[in-house]
Amino acid sequence: MIRILQNNVWDSMQKQTVAFSKESSNLFFHILTKCNLSCTHCYINKDQHGVDTLDIDTIKAWLKLFSNRSHLHGSNRDKTCLDNAGQTNVIFLGGEPTLHPDLHLAVKEAKRLGFKSINIDTNGYLFHNILDKISCDDIDYFSFSLDGATQATNDSIRGEGSYDKVMEGIKKAVAKNFSCSMIYTVSEKNFHELELMEDLIQNLGIKRFFIQVIGLRGKSTEGKGNFQISKENWLKTIPKTAKKIAGHGIVVTYPKVFLKSDETFQCAANVADNFFVFPNGRVYQCPICEDFPLHSFEIKGNKLIPTQKINEKDLFDLTIPEGCVMNKMIQPQNLSYNKVGEPEYQIACCMLKEEIS
Ligand code: SF4
Ligand code: SF4
Repeated sequence: MIRILQNNVWDSMQKQTVAFSKESSNLFFHILTKCNLSCTHCYINKDQHGVDTLDIDTIKAWLKLFSNRSHLHGSNRDKTCLDNAGQTNVIFLGGEPTLHPDLHLAVKEAKRLGFKSINIDTNGYLFHNILDKISCDDIDYFSFSLDGATQATNDSIRGEGSYDKVMEGIKKAVAKNFSCSMIYTVSEKNFHELELMEDLIQNLGIKRFFIQVIGLRGKSTEGKGNFQISKENWLKTIPKTAKKIAGHGIVVTYPKVFLKSDETFQCAANVADNFFVFPNGRVYQCPICEDFPLHSFEIKGNKLIPTQKINEKDLFDLTIPEGCVMNKMIQPQNLSYNKVGEPEYQIACCMLKEEIS
């Protein structure tokens, strides 16, 4: 009976590749780089992005800067770009953003400016009583990071005690009616526990589940943190488990990673507006450029200034048979070639997602 019901639910589920669009942009706003944890795959690179914590006046000024994006496009502005906060999702990040004593004021300012959605990505420690300083009407989602269904696996990646803390944080947030999502960063260390997440997520009251692939950035590019999941394990595990979890009415999103032969490669930076802002003023359009001084813009005196060549923009237009140029440069071992030297598959833009709902 249960199986029949599940099959019916699966039949009515929709899986779609989320198309890039300038009508829905994302502002990934790192308001500080400080964090209380030291995860093995952390992508924060203090050599590149400093140790500053932005003061609240600067945060407000930078939110204003991205609430009207007309200055980013100049006379070449695409007509589909509507240039205001109403088309932009803000994601407050760190480090750990709740370590910022004025995060609640930043959230309220983003709300006042009318951003399309407001989200906080957290490791679950919820510092400075953030749950008491904002209401569930102020933000769309708290996104909690968990990297294992069991305490042993999660804590081996994110640090001792982090599993208990994130569980406690989710329960408190759900009790206060905040919508909660979860981010699970898949690696060779934890992909085997992904299917155990099905029950855990339901029991916790999580509404959206984001599966990420371990990045090509920060510590995960170093020998000891590099546990990138193989193509075989990814394809064997992720789509199937995502579908099962979505069968419970939870929206599940995961990166496409490998393009099929009939799918067209697109670089998000050419066709969408995504901005990754760091407290030292660097603004990137591609997240996997963040380990290098290749940022497209710099914020100086609260003004957004295009950087000189060579920067990441010079890479976005390059067409190579392997797909993403940055992947080929940083992680060529992800690629494989046939006997005549042609790539066996293309690597999708890391921003390209599949969504099942
Ligand atoms: S919680 Fe996030 S910012 Fe902090 S160490 Fe872990 S990955 Fe890095
Ligand atoms: S990940 Fe690759 S395809 Fe995506 S924005 Fe960066 S360079 Fe472009």
